[in-house]
Amino acid sequence: MSPPSRAEVVVVGAGLAGLSVATRLAAAGRDVHVLDAAVHAGGRLSTARVDGFLVDRGFQVLNTGYPRVADLDLPALDLGWFWTGAVFRVDGRAHRVVDPRQHPGALPDTLRAPLGGPLREAALGAFSARAGYAPVSRLLAARERTAAEALRAAGVGERALEVFLRPFLAGVLLEDQLETSSRYLDLVWRSFVRGRVGLPAAGMHAVGQQLADRLPADRLHLGVRVTGVESGVVRTASGTTTAPVVVVATDPDTAAALLPGVQGSAPRQVTTHLHVLPESPWPDPLIVLGQPRGQLVNSVVVSDAQPAYSPDGRALVASSTLAPTREADVRAEVAGLHGVSPGDLDHLTSVTVTGAQPAAAPPLQHRRPVDLGDGVFVCGDHRDTPSIQGAMASGRRTAHAVLARLRGGGTSPGAPSPARA
Ligand SMILES: Cc1cc2nc3c(=O)[nH]c(=O)nc-3n(C[C@H](O)[C@H](O)[C@H](O)COP(=O)(O)OP(=O)(O)OC[C@H]3O[C@@H](n4cnc5c(N)ncnc54)[C@H](O)[C@@H]3O)c2cc1C
Repeated sequence: MSPPSRAEVVVVGAGLAGLSVATRLAAAGRDVHVLDAAVHAGGRLSTARVDGFLVDRGFQVLNTGYPRVADLDLPALDLGWFWTGAVFRVDGRAHRVVDPRQHPGALPDTLRAPLGGPLREAALGAFSARAGYAPVSRLLAARERTAAEALRAAGVGERALEVFLRPFLAGVLLEDQLETSSRYLDLVWRSFVRGRVGLPAAGMHAVGQQLADRLPADRLHLGVRVTGVESGVVRTASGTTTAPVVVVATDPDTAAALLPGVQGSAPRQVTTHLHVLPESPWPDPLIVLGQPRGQLVNSVVVSDAQPAYSPDGRALVASSTLAPTREADVRAEVAGLHGVSPGDLDHLTSVTVTGAQPAAAPPLQHRRPVDLGDGVFVCGDHRDTPSIQGAMASGRRTAHAVLARLRGGGTSPGAPSPARA
């Protein structure tokens, strides 16, 4: 359905941020319309079916430690779970490190894992306890440095850093220099300590679709590219919608192109290769980490966590590199990590995502202003943190700011909104 010529609020972008705004405004009885250039809602969370397998656009997971998971109906997503931890190889031998609170039976393996000795493991435990249980206000007030500097200062040691923390975090931060802000590291680590990571039975796309399904069908306009935004006006190829409030909830570079004064970002990229194995080589659903001199940051049997990703019980493996790679470049490395022969791997597909997430280098610009004035608002992961949590939190902040404006209270452009994630 075409967008209307007039609306109370137009939201540009049906990713998690835009949907988080729109669902709140619709629930408050506001006349809100969402326009998205893509043919599906959910933005960067998208899933395709390839030869019967569910293939997310790049390996990603839902972390239930995110505060904004409170906005989702988790049982309806029917999540399949990874264990919190990872497998890494040293001299060809696989070792597993697992959160002992979830799986006490794996504690002996975790204690024996070559991470530099008991003092180093204790330092990692202390780092986790602080990130997991100190108040967020204290984490955000802590001295800021790079993630690598913070981990060294915490005393985790070079070995744990190289074989475990660097590849584990590279898969999350999509950078392996660990130059990301220590404050964002604290928030990310907190979510791992407090939550579990899982995959919906219908793929990661289901997260955004669940929010989209809360909107009346005539409020979501897919396949509509917005070409211009001014105060009170949204232009598309097919026409113009006037609205006293416009929310730009696109990726950061599109937001910067549509709105003067909004900066683009240094986007992180990732290439993910999907392979099929006759069966999983592993007994437990754990991420397998890349090795220090390898190209892969991780390789994961996603169907071990969520069997619904496979149509027939074969194992679906997602292997990611930060630099663009060809499948032939990494096949032997994938096989080595899983202890199988390269010939066992059946290549399904590969995807490179160039604007996967914005960088979060120091200084972390957490909770950037969302009210630009004159009825124009901006939200998205680039306003908070580069994550599902950041996108949804920025959407929530923006919805509160928009509602305040519509009620006549308004917020000063640039002022922090009263709603905090
Ligand atoms: C491969 C990959 C792995 C990731 N892994 C994780 C993970 O494990 N955990 C995690 O928390 N986060 C992860 N992320 C990050 C997370 O997916 C994003 O931070 C989040 O989805 C961003 O949501 P958003 O709403 O801010 O933006 P987007 O999802 O980008 O939504 C923006 C929307 O705007 C639309 N749009 C753009 N231009 C226009 C236009 N001109 N007109 C109309 N519509 C337009 C787009 O089509 C899109 O739907 C990952 C991302 C990727 C790509």
